[in-house]
Amino acid sequence: MIPVNEPKLNDEGLELLKDAYLSGWISSAGRYVDEFEDAWAQYCGAEYGIAVSNGTTALQVAVEAVGVGQGDEVIMPTYTIISCALAVVRAGATPVLVDCDPLTWCMNVEHIEGLITDRTKAIMVVHIFGHPVDMDPIMALAAKYDLKVIEDAAEVHGALYKSNRGTNKEVWKKCGGIGDISTFSFFANKLITTGEGGMVVTNSVELAEKSKDLRNLCFRTDRRFLHTELGYQFRFTNVQAAIGLSQVREIEEIVERKRWIAKEYSSRLQHISQLQLPYEHDWARNVYWVYALVLGDEIPFDAKFFADKLRERGIETRPFFLGMHAQPALTDLRFFEGESYPVTDRIASRGLYLPSGLALTLDQIEDVASAVVDILTPYVSA
Ligand SMILES: *Cc1c(COP(=O)(O)O)cnc(C)c1O
Repeated sequence: MIPVNEPKLNDEGLELLKDAYLSGWISSAGRYVDEFEDAWAQYCGAEYGIAVSNGTTALQVAVEAVGVGQGDEVIMPTYTIISCALAVVRAGATPVLVDCDPLTWCMNVEHIEGLITDRTKAIMVVHIFGHPVDMDPIMALAAKYDLKVIEDAAEVHGALYKSNRGTNKEVWKKCGGIGDISTFSFFANKLITTGEGGMVVTNSVELAEKSKDLRNLCFRTDRRFLHTELGYQFRFTNVQAAIGLSQVREIEEIVERKRWIAKEYSSRLQHISQLQLPYEHDWARNVYWVYALVLGDEIPFDAKFFADKLRERGIETRPFFLGMHAQPALTDLRFFEGESYPVTDRIASRGLYLPSGLALTLDQIEDVASAVVDILTPYVSA
C-alpha cells in the first residue's frame, strides 16, 4: 500500500533529539523550545513564536488572545477542519461561514464584507492545501471595520503571497506572517512535524504575552499560584522542539520537494479533462501540502467510489473536508440553520487527495498517476 502520508525525518533531528534527551531537559523548559520558536517566527517574518501542544490548541489560544468571547461573531470558511470552528464555539462566539473559491478551495474573499455586523470581532483565514488566501482585501476590510485577522497557516508552511500587487510596493510575504496572529500545526502530515505540536506567531508583544499566559495556566509572576484569569495547559516540549528545529533549517528544501511532487503528478494528469488539479495563482507560491483532485461532473461516480478503486490498486487516499455547515456537532447547537454552501458541498463529495508525503518516491508517483489514468480514462473524452 502506498501510504497517503509518510513523513521524512532528517538525521540532524536525531542528533538534536539525543542532545535534548541527554541534557535532561525533556519537559517544556529548555533551549530548543526558545530556538524553535525564534527560528520559526523569524522565518515567517514575525517577532514572536509561542509553541503549543498542537494546531488545534494554537487556534484556541489565538482566538482568545485577540479577545473573541461570548456573543462575538467570527467570519471563517466553511471548508476547513473542525478545529477552526471548535476554537470559536469554545470561546462562546458564533462562527459565520463563507463558501470557498472553486479554483483554490480557499474562502471566497468577495463574500466576506456582506457578512460583517456590529458583533463581528475577527476574520479567521484558513489557507487551504498549500495555497494562500488573497490577503490584501481581507487586511483592508479588517482596517475598515476594526477587526482582528487570525491566519490558520497549518497547511502552508513556507507558502508565499504577493502583496500590494500592481503598485511599486509589491512584496512577497510568508503565510502566517500577515494577519494579527497566526497558527501552525506540526502534526506528522504537515510540512514540518514534531509528532504533535503547534505554534502561535505574532508581531504584537501584547498578543504574544497573552498567548504565553493562556498556554501556561495564566500563572502570575507576582504571586505564584494566584490566578486572576483562566488559562490552559497547552505546553510544548524541548524534545519536540529539537525535532522541529532541524526541519526549520531545511524548510526551503521541504517546500521544493512538495513542489516537485506536485509537478510530477500534474505532468502525468493534466491531459485528463474532467479532472481538476491543484491551482497556483501568479501571486502565490503554493506549497502543495497535499495533492488534491476534484472529479468533473461528467465522471459518473463520486470521490468515495474513486477512493475505493484506488485502494484496490494499493493506493491510500483521503477524502476532502466536510463543510462546517454539515457537521452535526455544530448544527445540533443550531448554528447555520437554512444556510447552504454549494461549492463546498460539491468538492466535499467529489474531491480527494493522493499520497503526498515527503517520503514519496518517483516510482510511487508514477504508480499512483497510472492508476488514476487507468480508472478515469473510460469516462473522459481525450
Ligand atoms: C492540521 C490542521 C489543524 C489542526 O492541527 P492539529 O495539530 O492536528 O491539532 C488546524 N487547522 C488546519 C487548517 C489544519 O490543516
